[in-house]
Amino acid sequence: MRFSFDLNATDGKARSGIISTPRGEIRTPAFMPVGTAATVKAMMPHSVRETGADILLGNTYHLMLRPTAERIDRLGGLHKFMNWERPILTDSGGFQVMSLAALRKLTEKGVTFKSHIDGSKHEITPERSMEIQRLLGSDIVMCFDECPALPADRDAIAQSMRLSMRWAARSRDAFGDRPGHALFGIQQGGLERDFRSESAQALIDIGFDGYALGGLAVGEGQAAMFDVLDYAPDMLPQDKPRYLMGVGKPDDIVGAVARGVDMMDCVLPSRSGRTGQVFTRRGVVNIKNARHADDPRPLDEGCRCPACRSYSRAYLHHVFRSQEIISSMLLTWHNLTYYQDLMAGMREAIAQKRFAAWQSDFEAGRAQGDIEPM
Ligand SMILES: [Zn+2]
Repeated sequence: MRFSFDLNATDGKARSGIISTPRGEIRTPAFMPVGTAATVKAMMPHSVRETGADILLGNTYHLMLRPTAERIDRLGGLHKFMNWERPILTDSGGFQVMSLAALRKLTEKGVTFKSHIDGSKHEITPERSMEIQRLLGSDIVMCFDECPALPADRDAIAQSMRLSMRWAARSRDAFGDRPGHALFGIQQGGLERDFRSESAQALIDIGFDGYALGGLAVGEGQAAMFDVLDYAPDMLPQDKPRYLMGVGKPDDIVGAVARGVDMMDCVLPSRSGRTGQVFTRRGVVNIKNARHADDPRPLDEGCRCPACRSYSRAYLHHVFRSQEIISSMLLTWHNLTYYQDLMAGMREAIAQKRFAAWQSDFEAGRAQGDIEPM
């Protein structure tokens, strides 16, 4: 069975479809929870699946350092290692080398760096990134690229983008022909329309199974990101999935889907679950706030997750304040459920050609704010 993408419905620029892989289908628009170190923190894999996730993201940078791709390969691959049999997308390592590692040195060949864990020296090249992602057994492999921090001047953005396009060609060559596995190219070019176009054309000339929008959500702000998303997805092939990397807050996700994005990932729902920040239909709730201490009502009456079905705000407030492990478990479960229900709602609205009305309801719910205190 080969990797394929079927677009089932469109409404305006919003799209819904199915990515088929030998490990199962991915319904789009899709949100991918992040399993950085071979775990979605505080969640069992079957619970992540129950929230509605069809695919997880794994981080090449973290896994190559610990426990190493070679060890995971010896133990049967990442799916078996972490007990998640459905599709996995891995990033290329490039972005996290830039954000986490010390003493980075960038050359045409690749990047050398020191591990943030033990200071050991490593190198990632496009060829090595493809090898690591193959050893992990990733279903969707990302090209090795460089993502410049914004703001940067036009010359620096152009040079970085062209280096990433040369690395994209090397990634394509090194990936080879692997039926059932997909390789995605990554468009770069910062906030510059002409560079985004040049990058898209370079990637299309090489030819990929899907196309990512890289270099966004790196501090430019939502308005600047949406400006790019107003045109950049249209530069990519209609018949392939489009993946916006590292996004985002619920309103970022809705705005990206409205502009033609099919896939996203972000640590926000899981990380926020551990810091007491909760996403609901009526906006963000901070569970550590004292107003919840005597509140017997659920976080979100309309939510199907165990935190909302079986526990009160008072209990969630108590276990968060007491730093009990169940607090991270329940709040992460809720946040991931909220994100997956958001995606399901958008998929249904697109299929029924009522995405604009759905988006108005989404915004109206958030504008209401949280329920009144007791
Ligand atoms: Zn819930």
